[in-house]
Amino acid sequence: MQDKPTGAQIRQEFINFFEEHGHTFVPSSPLVPGGDSTLLFTNAGMVQFKDVFLGTDQRPYSRAVNSQKCLRVSGKHNDLDQVGRDNTHHTFFEMLGNWSFGDYYKKEAITWAWQLLTEVWHLPKDRIWATYFKDELNEIPEDKEAAGIWLQQPGFDPDHLLPFGRKDNFWEMAETGPCGPDSEIHFDRGPEYCNLSDDPNHVCGVNGDCERFLEIWNNVFIQYNRLSENVLIPLEKKHVDTGMGFERLVSILQDVPSNYKTDLFIPLIQRVQALTGHNDAEREANLTPYRVIADHARATTFLIADGVVPGNIGRNYVCRMLVRRAARFGLKLDLKAPFLAKVAQVVIEEYGDFYPEIKRNAKTILDNLTREEIQFKKTIDAGLDHLNELLEELKQKGEKIMDGEKAFDLYATHGLPLEITRDIAQEQELDVDTMGFQQAMEVHRVASGAGREFGEMGGEDVEIYANLVDSLKAKGKLDAEGVKYAPYQAIMEPSEVLAIVKEGKPVESAQVGDSVAILLPKTWFYVEAGGQVSDTGKVVGSDGSAWTIRVTDMQKPAAGVIVHVGEVEEGCPAVGDMAIAQVDENRRVQIMRNHTATHLLHAALHEVLGKHARQAGSLVAPDRLRFDFNHPQAMTQEEILAVEAHVNQAILANYALNITQKPLQEAIDEGAMALFGEKYDAVVRTITIGDEAPLSYELCGGTHVDETGDIGLFLITYEGSIASGVRRIEAVTGWHAYQYARGRLNTLDHVDHFLGTSPQELLPKVKNLSGSLTAAQKEIEKLRSQAVSSDFKDKLDNAEVVEGIAVLKIILQNANMESLREMADRFRQKYTTGVALLASVQDEKPILIATVTEDLTKQGLHAGNLVKQVAAVVGGGGGGRPTLAQAGGRDASKLAESLYQVNVYIQNNLK
Ligand SMILES: [Zn+2]
Ligand SMILES: [Zn+2]
Repeated sequence: MQDKPTGAQIRQEFINFFEEHGHTFVPSSPLVPGGDSTLLFTNAGMVQFKDVFLGTDQRPYSRAVNSQKCLRVSGKHNDLDQVGRDNTHHTFFEMLGNWSFGDYYKKEAITWAWQLLTEVWHLPKDRIWATYFKDELNEIPEDKEAAGIWLQQPGFDPDHLLPFGRKDNFWEMAETGPCGPDSEIHFDRGPEYCNLSDDPNHVCGVNGDCERFLEIWNNVFIQYNRLSENVLIPLEKKHVDTGMGFERLVSILQDVPSNYKTDLFIPLIQRVQALTGHNDAEREANLTPYRVIADHARATTFLIADGVVPGNIGRNYVCRMLVRRAARFGLKLDLKAPFLAKVAQVVIEEYGDFYPEIKRNAKTILDNLTREEIQFKKTIDAGLDHLNELLEELKQKGEKIMDGEKAFDLYATHGLPLEITRDIAQEQELDVDTMGFQQAMEVHRVASGAGREFGEMGGEDVEIYANLVDSLKAKGKLDAEGVKYAPYQAIMEPSEVLAIVKEGKPVESAQVGDSVAILLPKTWFYVEAGGQVSDTGKVVGSDGSAWTIRVTDMQKPAAGVIVHVGEVEEGCPAVGDMAIAQVDENRRVQIMRNHTATHLLHAALHEVLGKHARQAGSLVAPDRLRFDFNHPQAMTQEEILAVEAHVNQAILANYALNITQKPLQEAIDEGAMALFGEKYDAVVRTITIGDEAPLSYELCGGTHVDETGDIGLFLITYEGSIASGVRRIEAVTGWHAYQYARGRLNTLDHVDHFLGTSPQELLPKVKNLSGSLTAAQKEIEKLRSQAVSSDFKDKLDNAEVVEGIAVLKIILQNANMESLREMADRFRQKYTTGVALLASVQDEKPILIATVTEDLTKQGLHAGNLVKQVAAVVGGGGGGRPTLAQAGGRDASKLAESLYQVNVYIQNNLK
């Protein structure tokens, strides 16, 4: 057993192998894709390189190797139902990949794959099979190149090379965009792994349906751009994109029959076993819950480390659902909640060396898991009882599918996620109308947690701009890197207008009123990034051509392209004119104050609340800053004031900002704060504030003041919750802070003046006034109810007689439901036989109460039916017991008319 490589070794061997072949190791991007709000989770290694394939961005390296954290909870690649029930499905998994961006191609990719598998990992050559693309429709050329390269590999059995069609061997990102043939590598685990050998018609094979042949590695050769269903054009720069499911690979190299039997999962499963006290036979008899808990512990640990805490919508919902699903499976093992943190602790120990973010955030992870489990525990019993009632009902009616709205109701009232409801229904051979659930959720504006496969594709502009820039480069108007971006220093000298784009087409000139995008060889306008909004301002013609474009937005539509977007205000700008870009500097200064203040706020939150208070979102605008961060509960007033004071102290200390460039790894090692959901280059810009032991040290591309004193004043204007475990602070600085404070002082002055008091005496005075007001209101209430009561007393004596019984029907002024009920009691005390209907109007809506004495309920009368019939006239409904029932309505104007229904009801029902 000793000679089997560990999972950690295998991962490292993969990376080392490709590093030795000139690849740059690129750390896994977070599970939340940076700059792609349309994709729920990173679900493949290529997500962080999507912009390179689309041509909207570039990297300083052309060969990369990585091990990417991925999460799939829905969609065609995974079905949550499968997770835990078989050997191979996971929510969280790692994807190993090697990448060529217009560098090497099929020959190297296939040769290296063969070498790594057979020479480094010593997989038997006669067990390896390969596939290549051959179009069943004969429209796209057969990939003879890949096939030929396979046949050249030393020791590769030519009979093990098989052609497959579009479904298996042609890869597309979406309906349009980069695509190409792929070549899969399969491993034959041997006939003993076939799980379908009982079926006489079954033949084991590559891409077959048994567990004998496993696909281990897919090499995608991106060589076309699909423009439409029928049009493929060859790409000038061809790419290689490979993906190898890490867990599966480890199961093969460790020669175990299930991913869950690799050392990636064994320690987690052992921890669960220690918690249950099961022996091995008991564990094997309960495999599914063990696997679900191990899988979900990994997923939630990594999610929370990347800032996704349990919550109600979108990604946060997924985290919540996974914690709760694990907790529910824990019930099956009689585990005492909360237990998940104890399993997550093992995840952190096992994976923390390669993924240090889970070590850094250990406390946040464990706290969030425990809190969520405790919260779930409060509602789960009621929820499960209710669910079981609903399932019983369903079975009695002989139905199979539970109503989606009812499932949503279980979630909304009892916190039971759909996935759990479905698990339980399926355990009883029933199911849930998932569509109905989604619709109900949509109605409640709670996002479903399902995302699009690869998110939104680049805009149609990409190609126009990419062509434009290529031609400008060819003419020598732009150098290789494209438009020069220099937002940190004003550029005052004129430069040439290189292009004007109007309605998606390049034009030579534009008119007043035209909406245009204008391209200059360099710009100092800031382009929205890291929460800081884009600059606005003007581009004006110099050298005599008098024209002005008011710039309202900045865009980066393709790699190396930055354009100023706005409207022509005067004159006729033309390509070739000389122009000056003028940033609205006053606005820029306000933004800089807010950006530097954001860094100070982040540091102050760490100081006051702790290191877990990490940034989860940020907006830096001219008029305010907004900062979202992880923290389990509302901040106290003292904490808010302490944070505000910390920031203002740092402002008054007037620290100079130190801004430098350095390699990413060096900055991270020095403890710089890297932000979640951001993409970083190999060399990063760092902002340090404070002297020896810096107050704040962040990676940041934003614009900042020179010294903290430039911020002026900092005031927090809001603190609140945006999701479970995520808080939001809004604040103002500089002139906006002054205006905010001045506004508050003015209000105070007005109130003082109005009350004839001074600021010092204001609070006691207001408390005093408020006290007398409460006393006065109580007095009014008392007088009112006395009036109602004496009014009622008069009417009580004068009940009419209908069909021989006493009937009282009255409308009382200013009575609430409580006093109507009291009066109904008084009616029954006075009359041993009779019916009363009492009504009043509250908040402009009718309220009604009906009472029937006990004896009459045996003669066909029912207070609930009576009140329903009356309430129907006023557009309402209600019900209750036979002797007492209440109702509400909408139309008070019909109240008097409705009372006649009492007589009708008695005549029709009294026996
Ligand atoms: Zn088979
Ligand atoms: Zn920043």
